[in-house]
Amino acid sequence: MKKNTIIVLITVLLISTACQQNVVLHNKDFLAMSTVVTYQVYSDENLDVDTIIEESIIGTEKLMSRTDQSSEIYNINKLAGTGEKVYISDDVKKIIEVSLYHQKISGNAFRITIYPLVILWDIMNPDAPIPTQSKIEEAITLSRVSNLEYNENEGYVKMQDKGSGIDLGGIAKGYAVDKAVEKLKENDVKHGFISIGGGIQTFGGKPDGAPWVLGLQNPTTPQRGHFATYKLMEGAVVTSGDYQRRKIEGGVVYHHIIDPLSGYPVQEGLASVTIFADHSTDADAYSTAVYVMGFEKGLEFINEKTDVEAMFVFHDKSVYLTAGLKDKVEIVDTEFYLNENR
Ligand code: ADP
Ligand code: MG
Repeated sequence: MKKNTIIVLITVLLISTACQQNVVLHNKDFLAMSTVVTYQVYSDENLDVDTIIEESIIGTEKLMSRTDQSSEIYNINKLAGTGEKVYISDDVKKIIEVSLYHQKISGNAFRITIYPLVILWDIMNPDAPIPTQSKIEEAITLSRVSNLEYNENEGYVKMQDKGSGIDLGGIAKGYAVDKAVEKLKENDVKHGFISIGGGIQTFGGKPDGAPWVLGLQNPTTPQRGHFATYKLMEGAVVTSGDYQRRKIEGGVVYHHIIDPLSGYPVQEGLASVTIFADHSTDADAYSTAVYVMGFEKGLEFINEKTDVEAMFVFHDKSVYLTAGLKDKVEIVDTEFYLNENR
């Protein structure tokens, strides 16, 4: 993807320049996981922050991409239906386990066995036709969660039917960022943020003790920049929406988040949902799950959780915030308005 086609969904505003002695700002962006990674990290000048971050993120991509022929996930999908067991690395085990957890608690709205439907829709390919109903039904059947067998004790994965497979696109970016932050913290790094696509993880606030100030992107007219701000010291903020990877045919928007029950990209859904959680792996999975569930079910789901908050943005530019975000998310674009009465 060309850099100028990429929209950074969350910007960080009002960057502080205050630094302790020997602590320098490492500030860079690069392309990975089909999007742009941006970071600002304050650390000892001798620490090779760039390599730590790049290795964590590009390393995760190498293991978890469904298109990279050297990835473990590619291999699992290729061997689907052959009866072969694919033994997986600890990193892939971890992400499969956390994904299966999110699959379960979301009632399979978030499901990594969505692969056949993702392949069928091929949303980023402008030449891919809208699939026929019979193809969609076939792919719905192949996307059933029982197609995935994970043996925790022996550490292997086996996909039952030929054509079934795993797609970690709804969680891998969050996992990659958590991994990078974990490595930075192991190296005694105290302050920073890493953003990737529509997600960000901040830690330790700014070196001068102030919180990071995030700009939350306008999901209905993305080119207008951010429509709201949010301050936080440490935590993850991840957005899913219909405005990113999409195509329009016959006036209908087809995008990259698929409702596993209908087999279609979620229709007439939210403009976006933004999840606020401690860790970006969870926030990423929740954002995809809640986008699939839609407002009512998604709100009920989030309200059952402590430590997770959500901002729902509708196409009419109304915004609904869960209780923990009230007075914390500040709407700065007057086209948007809070509607508490949904
Ligand atoms: P983004 O990739 O833009 O950050 P999401 O985190 O919401 O957005 O992930 C969307 C990706 O997740 C899709 O591109 C696809 O790879 C995968 N996906 C699509 N539908 C589902 C679903 N119902 N459950 C899990 N993953 C999904
Ligand atoms: Mg996600």
